[in-house]
Amino acid sequence: MSRKKNISQAGVSKIKSFRKQFPSVNILLKDLLQGNKTALGRVITLLESTKSTDREKAREIIDNCLLPNINSIRIGITGPPGVGKSTFIETFGKMLTSLGNKVAVLAIDPSSSLTKGSILGDKTRMQELVKDPNAFVRPSPSREFLGGVAENTRETIIVCEAAGYNIILIETVGVGQSEIVVHSMVDFFLVLQLVGAGDELQGIKRGIIEMADAIAINKADGDNLQKAKLAQREFTKALHLFPPKENGWIPKVVTCSAQEQKGLVEIWEMINQYITETTHEGTFTEKRQNQNTFWLLQTVNDRLKSHLQENKKLNKQLEKLLQKVQENKISPFKAADLLFQLHLKELK
Ligand code: GDP
Repeated sequence: MSRKKNISQAGVSKIKSFRKQFPSVNILLKDLLQGNKTALGRVITLLESTKSTDREKAREIIDNCLLPNINSIRIGITGPPGVGKSTFIETFGKMLTSLGNKVAVLAIDPSSSLTKGSILGDKTRMQELVKDPNAFVRPSPSREFLGGVAENTRETIIVCEAAGYNIILIETVGVGQSEIVVHSMVDFFLVLQLVGAGDELQGIKRGIIEMADAIAINKADGDNLQKAKLAQREFTKALHLFPPKENGWIPKVVTCSAQEQKGLVEIWEMINQYITETTHEGTFTEKRQNQNTFWLLQTVNDRLKSHLQENKKLNKQLEKLLQKVQENKISPFKAADLLFQLHLKELK
């Protein structure tokens, strides 16, 4: 009798440990909605997985995370390497948690899969924030394509918000397409800049200025302070030359020192002013709706494209048609129609 009891106890503890390691979708979801960080990490791992069974589980969880009445603020932070992004996010994030917020820090770094490193992968970055019980720091998903990284990050935002994180900071390096991607998934886009030797405006790409809701000139401390103030005036003048934003917001230029924790309260107040104004005007919700539309259409596009690339028959046909187009034997539009017709036939 006692042996039987022992076996069954061992069995129970085995099941318990198995459940701990591989919790069911329901348990994961329940823990996630209660703000459990381990569950949140596991869900993100599932949605970043290349295994289709994992992705199915993740999708099921995400469907249950689309909750109404979630009040969150999504802030994109960009700037060239060395501008002080991680120092800024660490101090800004700590300030936000000390004000009673729950902060999630995500990253979009398409280079991470190539360099096998990630802008948030380095454990020495944001050490304080990583330890903060009210902060969740997640490295950039290492997918080969920016589209894949973007999709993962969009889904990660949703699960972080469902887990109770009301402020989402998304970091990206100020090079390439990644700012455009981040811009299309945040409410407020903050560009960090440095003072140079009078060439500030050349050093920053026009496209980034156009996207910025605010430019913060960082490292405005010590000998740099005066130069930073000068750059602030130059940037402010330059911003006037751009057409006004659709939502009526006039981008601001501020100075800050992430290291000396100066100007951060003002940045937070400015973001709050932005949220208040755009919520009042109705453009806050409108922007998110537009972003949802954009992501739906973008994803359909991406799916069609990868379907085309992965389907051998279509791929072969595409090659043939490409050849004919190059030789001017058929117009690109006719070729596209033929390919689409074949695609429809394949679906039947
Ligand atoms: P990132 O590459 O943009 O993430 O930049 P980091 O946060 O790693 O910072 C790059 C360097 O700039 C580090 O040596 C920081 O200590 C320094 N740094 C960051 N913020 C400030 C600041 O506000 N003032 C000064 N003087 N140095 C800073």
